[in-house]
Order: sequence, then structure tokens, then C-alpha cells
Amino acid sequence: MKLVTNKHTGRQVLINKLRDSRENDFIGKEEGKECPFCPGENEEKANFTIEEDGKWVVKAIDNKYPALVTNIEEYQKNKCDYGKHEVLIETREHLRNFYDFTIEEFENIIKMYRNRFIELDGDENVEYTIIYKNHLKSAGASKIHSHSQILSMSFIPPEIKREIKTLKKYSLWGDKKIITENKNFEVFIPEDSYLSGEMIIENRNSGRFNDIKDEEIVDLAESFKEIFSKINEVYGTIPFNIYIHSLPKNIKSPKFKWHVHVIPRKGKFGGFELGTGLYVNSLDLDEMYSKFCTNK
Ligand SMILES: [Zn+2]
Ligand SMILES: [Zn+2]
Repeated sequence: MKLVTNKHTGRQVLINKLRDSRENDFIGKEEGKECPFCPGENEEKANFTIEEDGKWVVKAIDNKYPALVTNIEEYQKNKCDYGKHEVLIETREHLRNFYDFTIEEFENIIKMYRNRFIELDGDENVEYTIIYKNHLKSAGASKIHSHSQILSMSFIPPEIKREIKTLKKYSLWGDKKIITENKNFEVFIPEDSYLSGEMIIENRNSGRFNDIKDEEIVDLAESFKEIFSKINEVYGTIPFNIYIHSLPKNIKSPKFKWHVHVIPRKGKFGGFELGTGLYVNSLDLDEMYSKFCTNK
């Protein structure tokens, strides 16, 4: 589990042999397989829960196939990189998901995000922490039961370094079309996003996700509800990814505000994208804007 630089391409890659043994249970419970995220499974192993009527409604557990581990001895000997990897289970119900959740359910999920982020990012060996979500198999999920993941790292990953570097020269987003906003967040489509259909939910107040206050949790829950209702309306319940970009704790960048990337996975990518490092954005911005904008 080590970050190395590929000698052929110069790109960084995280080497981890354990991850390849992950079981893929997209066949799911429907076909008689147990789901490790359903109530009754892994109950004793919770790192965090929010409970209602004596039952958990969200729950964080260790990832069984971590991308990084907290082996401090190996890390100090420079034999591996360091980090913690958890699964954030978002509902008790096997098939409920971001397309169905109420604002209250989203609030509990974001409270879990905050709690786990503060704990994992607070580790002195950690330089960066990311929360991300893969929904459905073609967006990279190996389990159908709604969950996100959090991974802390002893290094700053290339994508976030790139954003901070860009921000020193330019504004981060270029021309943006605002589709909805509230007191604490702006939701917009960047015209030149890396992947077609990407939307950004940007906090107005802070660079660091761990600063999120209760009233901002309510506003973010509302933004999630609104966006996922819209995606459902426009594209149906398609696979998607989200990830939260927060400023690394040891870097100053006053212009940087923490934000959520929301990426509906409309198309697939293959040889062209892998061979060139380019993604084709075929988005008709005006058309998407007219479908998504709620404040016209
Ligand atoms: Zn389940
Ligand atoms: Zn970002």
C-alpha cells in the first residue's frame, strides 16, 4: 500500500494487492446472498452511528478491503503509506438510495460525513481525507446497499494538488451556470467540466469541510434532495459519483472553498480516454441548464 510514481508515464499510482480480492455482490440479497451492510450484519463493529428508536439509521464501519491502513511502524520505516478507510452506510434499507432519501435522511448522512471526517483528518499522520460515493456498478460500486466511503491519506493526491495550483492563477470554475442556490451553497454547472453533466455544490464560507455547521448541513441536505430529484427527472436513476474536495489541512489557499462534485455517469469511457488522458465533454450547456435550472 504505497504511493509510487510510474516510471513510464510519470503518473502517481497507489499500489495495493489486497483490493483485488474484493467480493462483488451486485447479485445482492435478491439472489440469496447476505448483504454486509444490512441490519444484523457487522453490528458490533460500528465506529459511529446515529440512532432513532434504538436502531441505527446511519453507521460507519471499517472497510474490509482498505486502500490504506494505519500501520504506523511500517509507515515510519517508509515501507507503506498511511491512512484509514471506512464505509459509511447511509440507510438500514437495502434498496433505498440518494434518489429516494428525505431531507432528514440526507442530514443524518452529512452528520456522519462530518463526524468521520473530523476524526480521520485529525490524525497527525494524515495530510488529506476524501469522502466519495459510487452509486451502482458502472460507477464503481461493488455493493448495491447505499453507502459512501472515507479515506484518509498520508499524502495529498494529484487531483487536489492540481485544483489548488490552478486556483493560484485562475478562478477554479471559469464560466458557471448557477442552477440553484441557498444561504450557504451555490449549485452550478461548469462549462468546461472534465466529464459531461458534472455539477458542483460549493460552500460559500470555508475551505475546510470539517468546519461545516448544523445550519449548513440543513442547506446541503436540501441541495442534495433538489439535485437528485432533478437528475432522476432528467436522466432517470442512473449511476453517479460524488466526492467532496476540502482544502488540505497544511495548505493555505484563501480562494478555495470546499465543494462536492456530482457526476451523473451518462456515458462510458474506454481506449480513447485511457490512451489520451482526455475525456470528451459533449454537453450542450444551454440544454442542460434549461433542464436543471430551478430558478428561472
Ligand atoms: Zn443491504
Ligand atoms: Zn474539486
